[in-house]
Order: sequence, then C-alpha cells, then structure tokens
Amino acid sequence: MAKVAFIGLGVMGYPMAGFLKKAGHEVTVYNRTTSKAETWASEFGGTFSLTPKDAVKGCEFVFSCVGNDDDLRQVVLGDNGILQGLEPGSTLIDNTTASAEVARELYSVLAGKNIGFLDAPVSGGQAGAESGALTVMVGGDQAIFDKAQPIIMAFSRCAERIGEAGAGQLAKMVNQICIAGVVQGLAEGLNFAKNAGLDGEKVVEVISKGAAQSWQMENRYQTMLKGEYDFGFAVDWMRKDLGIALDEARKNGSALPLTAMVDQYYQEVQNIGGRRWDTSSLMARLESYKK
Ligand code: NAP
Repeated sequence: MAKVAFIGLGVMGYPMAGFLKKAGHEVTVYNRTTSKAETWASEFGGTFSLTPKDAVKGCEFVFSCVGNDDDLRQVVLGDNGILQGLEPGSTLIDNTTASAEVARELYSVLAGKNIGFLDAPVSGGQAGAESGALTVMVGGDQAIFDKAQPIIMAFSRCAERIGEAGAGQLAKMVNQICIAGVVQGLAEGLNFAKNAGLDGEKVVEVISKGAAQSWQMENRYQTMLKGEYDFGFAVDWMRKDLGIALDEARKNGSALPLTAMVDQYYQEVQNIGGRRWDTSSLMARLESYKK
C-alpha cells in the first residue's frame, strides 16, 4: 500500500480519493475550500492538509483533479504548491481535463527534479467516479505508468497508457469530439420524434436495439424526453473541453466542423440559462426554436 495525496475534492476528486482510501492506501487530501477536506477526512478516515505542499510531503503518488490549465498551474507551481512538497522519485498523476500543452510543460518541469508526471484525464462522469468505474487515458513514461497503474485502478475500470506526455489529454479530446456529435444527433432525433407526434419512449425502445444505439441514447433519452438536464457533466465544462480540442485541432491541422458547430450550440444553451445543465441539454436548444 502506498502513501498517497489527492488535491482537489470536487464532484470527481472527492469520490476518487475515497476509493484510494478504501483500497487501503494512506491518503492525505487538500481542497481549496477546507470544509470539503474536513468532511472527506471524517467520511473516509484519512487526513487533510491546509496546503498542497504539506499534503504531498513524503508521498509516493500524488493525484490532482482541478478545473482547467490555470488552476492546474496554480496548484502545482504556485506558492505552497505541489512542486514545493514533492520529493525526487515520486509521481504526480493529473486527472484534470486540461491541454496537452500544460501536460508537456509540467512533465518537463517535474522531470528536471526527477519527479514523474502522468497526464491522466478521466471519462465516466460523476456516476463513474462514485462507482469507482472511470476510464483513464494516460500520457507519460511507460515505466512510471507501470508503477502507477495499480494505484489508479482503485477508482477505474480501465487505465491505459496512450503514449508520451500529453497523449492522455489528446485522447480525452478525441473522447469529447466523439461525444459532441452523438449528443447533437440524439437531440435532433428525439426532438423530431416529439414533433412528429411519436411516442419517444417506444421509438427508442426499438431503435436502441439497432445501429442507432449509443451510451448517450441508453443513459439520457428518458431525461431528455422529459426536459430534465441535471444528470452529470455540465455545459460549462463541455465548452472548456471543446475549446481545448478546437485549439489543438488548429495546431495539428484537423478539421472539426461538427465539433465547432456543436460548441456554438452549447454557447446558445449557456445563453438560455443552461450553464450548469448537463450536456444532453442540446435538446432544450432545439425545443426553444419551436416556441
Ligand atoms: P468541480 O466539482 O468544480 O471541482 C473542482 C475542484 O478543483 C474543486 O475541488 C476546487 O476547489 C478545485 N479547484 C479549482 N480551481 C482551483 C484552484 N485554482 N486552486 C485550488 N483548487 C482549485 O469539478 P469536477 O466536476 O470535479 O471536475 C474536475 C476536472 O475533471 C475538470 O477538469 C473536469 O473537466 C474533469 N471531468 C469532470 C467530469 C464530470 O462529470 N464532472 C467528468 C470527466 C472529467 P473548491 O472546492 O475550493 O472550489
């Protein structure tokens, strides 16, 4: 069992850190809002620190899961940050969805101090985090990954190394690109079914057994038909992720016409009050056109 720290107890980090503790590791947590760290420590029986620097002292593995590139730079490189407390030979595993650029930057800063770095964004949402069944896409050195994988598996059902530093974040971009078009297609189909006077439930019951089936269809069609959008990954987060993918696409020459369009649709969802709605709320945008 390892000595581990977890930095960032949000919707994702809180249960992920809990699974590390349940797996038998010695876990210390840090959260910017200390009350969450206190609650975590009393729920799971671990300890908490008041700075990232203190939390990571003496740890072999440190996990971070914060918001975006700037937040990540702040908790790693800032005053009383992770870097000030990490010791040579340890490994930082970052589960934030961020750019490949910041992943490569942190990889080389930490390599200069003989500290391993893995970019390890996750997929599976709040439900996946709460059931310890996340999918983890990893970039970084093979030898570091091999040491870290058993620890990462405490909160995952699949953790695979995709390639060198940044490759985990690039794979997560692929994930978000694939999701964007599927959700828009599903929203259009369900909205069409409603407008055609069909029983949406009945339609999905049948078409989900054929080629139209998808995770989004299985997990979101019922709530979409009811106009309920409080089931997971928020539109604000999705726009952050699509922005990262669109930036990267400009650098590597990929055409992302559908992703760019869906990103604009999400902006419209934000404008009609849906910043915290889940990503299936593309349906609400289509319905707003009918009124
Ligand atoms: P969240 O609930 O908003 O939590 C964000 C966490 O980061 C909080 O603990 C917050 O601290 C901390 N934080 C943010 N900025 C910080 C800063 N500058 N300094 C220190 N701490 C900071 O977000 P989440 O849903 O857990 O998502 C975390 C990451 O996972 C994001 O990159 C997101 O895109 C990704 N992700 C989320 C999901 C999902 O379904 N939610 C799925 C896959 C990936 P406070 O408590 O003090 O605010």
